[in-house]
Amino acid sequence: MVVKYTAKSMELDMTQTENLPSTDFIRDIINEDLKANKNSGRVATRFPPEPNGYLHIGHAKSVCLNFGIAAQYKGTCNLRMDDTDPAGESMEYVESIINDVRWLGFDWEDRLFYASDYFEQLYQFAVRLIKAGKAYVCSLSPDEIREYRGTLTEPGRDSPYRNRSVEENLDLFERMRAGEFEDGSHVLRAKIDMSSPNILMRDPILYRIKRTPHYRTGNNWVIYPMYDFAHCLSDALERITHSICTLEFENNRPLYDWIVNELIEGDKPRQIEFARLNLSYTILSKRRLIELVEKGHVSGWDDPRMPTIAGMRRRGYTPEAIKTFCTKIGVAKNDNLVDITLLEACVRDDLNERCPRIMAVIRPLKVIIDNYPEDRVEEIDAPNHPQNPSMGTRKVPFSRTLYIEQDDFNENPPKKYKRLAPGREVRLRNAYVIKFERAVKDEKSGKIIEIHCTYDPTTKDNPPADGRKIEGVIHWVSEKHAIPAEVRLYDRLFSIPDPADKGDEFTKYLNPESLEVLTSCYVEPSLKGAAPGSRYQFERLGYFCIDIKDSTPQRPVFNRIASLRDTWAKVAEKGK
Ligand code: ATP
Ligand code: MG
Repeated sequence: MVVKYTAKSMELDMTQTENLPSTDFIRDIINEDLKANKNSGRVATRFPPEPNGYLHIGHAKSVCLNFGIAAQYKGTCNLRMDDTDPAGESMEYVESIINDVRWLGFDWEDRLFYASDYFEQLYQFAVRLIKAGKAYVCSLSPDEIREYRGTLTEPGRDSPYRNRSVEENLDLFERMRAGEFEDGSHVLRAKIDMSSPNILMRDPILYRIKRTPHYRTGNNWVIYPMYDFAHCLSDALERITHSICTLEFENNRPLYDWIVNELIEGDKPRQIEFARLNLSYTILSKRRLIELVEKGHVSGWDDPRMPTIAGMRRRGYTPEAIKTFCTKIGVAKNDNLVDITLLEACVRDDLNERCPRIMAVIRPLKVIIDNYPEDRVEEIDAPNHPQNPSMGTRKVPFSRTLYIEQDDFNENPPKKYKRLAPGREVRLRNAYVIKFERAVKDEKSGKIIEIHCTYDPTTKDNPPADGRKIEGVIHWVSEKHAIPAEVRLYDRLFSIPDPADKGDEFTKYLNPESLEVLTSCYVEPSLKGAAPGSRYQFERLGYFCIDIKDSTPQRPVFNRIASLRDTWAKVAEKGK
């Protein structure tokens, strides 16, 4: 399904309920709620990441959905750190999340919240449940709890502690909080129904003892609320109207509703599930991404091959391209696998429009133009964008010694080869037609060191006067003007479409060619002083971005954002 946000739909007239946007099932639900005047017409969403890893492109889908809906309905979207499980959470992750959501272009104003700020309120909610006879302290061991829970086909059995008195429960729960008991010795459970067909409703655990310091609350707490208890109540405390989450929480919804109904007066948040993003050639599980980082398969969370927002930003993807992708994939109720070529196409389309063209040579071959005066330099006007004259022109120096790509010359050209070869001519982009004369080879290895050519002085901005046809056009840089640079050619991190289906073996399917580093490249001098993060199309080579981390003014480092075309499609074609 393709969803389109038009400028018009962003300026929605909320008094005209028949004009409400109806582009997917979530917006349909919101429309129904608005028509029924639920929540007094308010729309409040939240994006609730757990700060136990960096955000990835799947999270971007959720960010775009939640913030997008809020903007469309003139509502609000909160950013909430869902930090109720101390293991693995950290301030570094919080900071990265804040950075990434902001970079994507969304604004939570003053509504940055932490579920850990609600620990006291959540504790008081639990006390209320105990007082209402709806929760009890259970002292079965974790194994026993599992055993008593039953299976999909068998009902569970009541815990022997299920009928503890309210006083005893209050006393035990307080002492759990006070740190009197070992981890795992007691839990607080909701008293619901041990024979429910939904296993999650069989007296689910609400609190457990866990002596792990929390990155924000330190050692203040030794009991922590479970996700199912904390999440719905955090939503309620923030007066969220529509709590959008991924499909795996569908079975948790009855529990969400049970807790909210027991504890919240008035408007209640409503959970809506949608299909999470799965992307071919990509892993989107935080646990696995952590493994890639920790085992050094990538250079870090922001390695340009990572599907993280930080990685994509460093690679050179724009927020606009990512948002376009999220809009195009839409939201659905069924899990599916999105083809990564869709993301890559969004990136290319976006870059094609915005990137100035420049010339760079990444595998240089020296060319000496024998009949061009030794000390002459011509400043050639070159268009920055052939389809967009408003992007202007720049000066590119031309001189006697140039670099071209090694594969733009071939001593034994195959059929249809249109570039430089013995006896052949080629046009240098924006400049002259040159003709191959001779190659100089290394005596020992036989490797070509440089080639000598002659140029036709009449061909600048002109086809040859005698009407002979020049088929090939190649790019070049002037040796003495070019800026030496490093170029990192990035490709897909995995070489198979479904690494996510390979379980713990997934690292076996890493693409060994996902990074190639070229250290003797040259870019044209107009890039002198260009800011890190700047993006360009290197003519005929692809889209490149100045690395924001490793680049220096003395030695720029360029990341390949994308090739000009989908090279994987060609490989797949050939394989057929
Ligand atoms: P993981 O399963 O990899 O650990 P998570 O879902 O636990 O990730 P959270 O930090 O809890 O990560 O996610 C924050 C929000 O982003 C949640 O609302 C979650 O549903 C949503 N989200 C996570 N992964 C995806 C995805 N692949 N597609 C869409 N939304 C996602
Ligand atoms: Mg989660």
